[in-house]
Amino acid sequence: MPIDLLKDSHKPLWDGFTNHSKLLIIVHVFTIKLDDGLCKVGYDKIIEWAWSILPKEDRLKENFYTAKSMMKPLDLGYQKIDMCLNFCMLYYLKHTNLTRCRTCEHSCYKPMIGRWRSLFKHKKLRYFLITPRLQRLFISPKTIEHMTWYQSHDAVDGVMVHPFDSESRKHFNSVHPRFLLETKNVCLGLFTDGFNPFELFAALFSYWSMILMVYNLPTEMCMRPKFMFLSMVILGSNSLGQNIDVCLRPLIHELK
Ligand SMILES: [Zn+2]
Repeated sequence: MPIDLLKDSHKPLWDGFTNHSKLLIIVHVFTIKLDDGLCKVGYDKIIEWAWSILPKEDRLKENFYTAKSMMKPLDLGYQKIDMCLNFCMLYYLKHTNLTRCRTCEHSCYKPMIGRWRSLFKHKKLRYFLITPRLQRLFISPKTIEHMTWYQSHDAVDGVMVHPFDSESRKHFNSVHPRFLLETKNVCLGLFTDGFNPFELFAALFSYWSMILMVYNLPTEMCMRPKFMFLSMVILGSNSLGQNIDVCLRPLIHELK
């Protein structure tokens, strides 16, 4: 944890108030903002109101933008990767600087606006790195002891108590028998679904997400949202279908 953030996590809101640190209060208000879809103005109004009732020393002064930059070190971040409108390829690694698709030759830029060349790309994929998330599972003493759970789990034929008991895992074992011998190896499951985060235009979905599940963990943990990792988000109202192969490239690259 960065030094400034570490100081804020121990700093009381004012002298003598030890129930909550300044950082914890800001994180709580941020959580309310996200859970209830509060806008930035709403967030600032809550902070202004809290500012007016707190003691004059060390008041809570952080507006939305200050608080966001304060919490930036907690953020795991994501990469924006351009992709062809027709899902042929990603503008990724050695192809980052291409301006046209190598397969369909479609420009990666949106059409010109008047005389001006558009700088906006057609389609972007948001990719969330898996490595820092897995590192956190191995750093925390509360989770590391569960990361080898699957080694001691005995699957019974015909009974499925964990996603790891599936036929696909048996097939994987037969192809890669040495993989599970190393206890630090991580088994991941991938699933995808569409969603409509802002419920616009009554569409069932306007984004596609890919989620990773950590099969090392016991059933009661691996099925919980906090242990499911968002891997990527793609804008689009059509099912990904076979296009999923193109989108998986950054994940495969990172896993390798
Ligand atoms: Zn293309």
